[in-house]
Amino acid sequence: MIQDITPHTYHNEYRPVPPEQESLVLYFEGDRVLVKRQEGSLSFPCFSELPAPELKLSQDLLYLFSIDDRTFYLARQRPAFDETLFKMESIRIFRDTPPGWLSFAGITAHQLYHWYDSHRFCGKCGRPLVHSSKERMLHCPDCGIMEYPKISPAVIVGILHRDRLLMSKYAGRGATHYALIAGFAEIGETIEETVKREVYEEVGLHVKNLRYYKSQPWSFSDTLLFGFFAELEGEDDSITLDTQELATAGWFTREEAPAQPLNISLTSEMIWKFKNGEV
Ligand SMILES: [Zn+2]
Repeated sequence: MIQDITPHTYHNEYRPVPPEQESLVLYFEGDRVLVKRQEGSLSFPCFSELPAPELKLSQDLLYLFSIDDRTFYLARQRPAFDETLFKMESIRIFRDTPPGWLSFAGITAHQLYHWYDSHRFCGKCGRPLVHSSKERMLHCPDCGIMEYPKISPAVIVGILHRDRLLMSKYAGRGATHYALIAGFAEIGETIEETVKREVYEEVGLHVKNLRYYKSQPWSFSDTLLFGFFAELEGEDDSITLDTQELATAGWFTREEAPAQPLNISLTSEMIWKFKNGEV
């Protein structure tokens, strides 16, 4: 999965040390990112490659995280760069461009960029927010509001019944692949209640014997995913489709279950677990 970057180690702690020459610079404009011009693999500019870099932390240069001993920074102003060496590219490249640990760094940085970019001002009094010196937090010096990075919990559910798996396709999102039931947690409910509610809302079924599988940070949508397998409650497996959310849904045997090549997503891994007879 996207976060599996062994033998590399992701260090999320906020420790805003000054950048070094080999520190990597992440610069985004919306859903585009500054990368090196090279075919088939991903690379970001390091400070020594940017003309006359100002190696100083400021509101325009934020410490993000480290992977191993390499530090990553977010540039909030467009750096001057040599267009023969670097280019702006869609963040979709983070889905399938090696090396995986840099793609993971890229999409994680993009989630933080998106958060910083949409939290410039206090939502209560409108004053500019200021970064805490101690932690990854923005606060309003005027009214004291504190803002932490946005992470939305959500579930993915593999529903099992009589050696079959319920799979579905989203409606109207350009989705062409079969996936599993998924949805965001609502305020005031446990993640287990989210599983039961989402399954009932999307396919009109009740589930029991929830088994937690794994979680996954999914920065493409500011999400933390919780994967569960669950069994159908009762014997009536007829599906009542929520056509706002889903285009189709059905039960598949291990042989029939349509799967994509094993990729970066928890959904893909769960489908393969089923196909391989491991759940
Ligand atoms: Zn305020």
